[in-house]
Amino acid sequence: MPQTKKDLKDFSLDELNSRLKSLRVEPYRAKQVFEWMYQKGAKNFGEMTDLPLPLRHILSDKFRVLTSEIIKRQISKLDGTRKYLFRLDDNEAVEAVLIPAKGRQTVCLSSQVGCAYGCKFCASGLLGIKRDLRCGEILEQALGISRDIKGARITNVVMMGTGEPLANYDNVMKAISVMNSPYGFGIGARKITVSTAGYIPGIKRFMDEKAQIELSVSLHGATDETRSYLMPINKKYTLSELMKVCREYVREKDRIITFEYVLIKGVNASREDATALSKLLKGLPGKVNLIPFNPVSSFNFMPPSGKEVKEFQDILKNHDVNSTIRAQRGADIDAACGQLRLRETI
Ligand code: SF4
Repeated sequence: MPQTKKDLKDFSLDELNSRLKSLRVEPYRAKQVFEWMYQKGAKNFGEMTDLPLPLRHILSDKFRVLTSEIIKRQISKLDGTRKYLFRLDDNEAVEAVLIPAKGRQTVCLSSQVGCAYGCKFCASGLLGIKRDLRCGEILEQALGISRDIKGARITNVVMMGTGEPLANYDNVMKAISVMNSPYGFGIGARKITVSTAGYIPGIKRFMDEKAQIELSVSLHGATDETRSYLMPINKKYTLSELMKVCREYVREKDRIITFEYVLIKGVNASREDATALSKLLKGLPGKVNLIPFNPVSSFNFMPPSGKEVKEFQDILKNHDVNSTIRAQRGADIDAACGQLRLRETI
């Protein structure tokens, strides 16, 4: 039977306000419902005990509260990183990762089932794209993780799992508004990062967002030749167009951009590559995350040596380009960048 009731988690607070108003329910109830779902972890209307019974009946008549099922959980022995596989309503599956650190619980969430962009080093794009995730399905990844860690507060969010978040713009931004809302997860905008492979129409839209959400751009190559080889999206949105829009973003928003750069031996990790990257980013307020490639069985790539990584970083430094070398997390459970959905089938 087709399910006609809408998942309550597909509504922003404003949308729920209006919907409840149209049902002649006092709009302030929307905040209560939000608190029950996102702060007290209610999985059904029966658990929302301070709502009057007639209201709970109206809600269950019109809406549903979908909860996700964790079908696989892996915990890294190296650093406690947890990787989750969630079953979706239509039997598709999606992954999310919890990265615990001192005083921080960061979740890395997926935005699509599969990915259209097929970057050469990324397991997530191997099977192509199946569909966008709904807002509620994005939020359910965070809620499912929160339940699994017994309600411990999630402090940071990175939209860096499977998919291109800016190509599923409306659902992703609505989910972020709920994560940011004091009645939702209450996570500060600056603790939420949206990562893009360089989808320029999405970056242009993102420029108009009022909330101070962080932007991260996956670069991975400092010339069109290298970048197009690693990231086919570069054939459509070239490096010079991408850098133009990045410079515009930094100027208009007065914000910095974090550039992700996965280091692959023999492909983009030479001294010449470091010099080209320095020139590309010259004078642009931002930071580069250098990520030594995680060897994954489906790919023949290898990371450069520690010495080569350090030399690469030194060249950036000599050109006044800020960078950090990102520590690998969850490498033993394939939870590191580009390793989601590599070995999972349901
Ligand atoms: S790196 Fe990102 S954009 Fe590229 S294939 Fe993987 S998920 Fe898609």
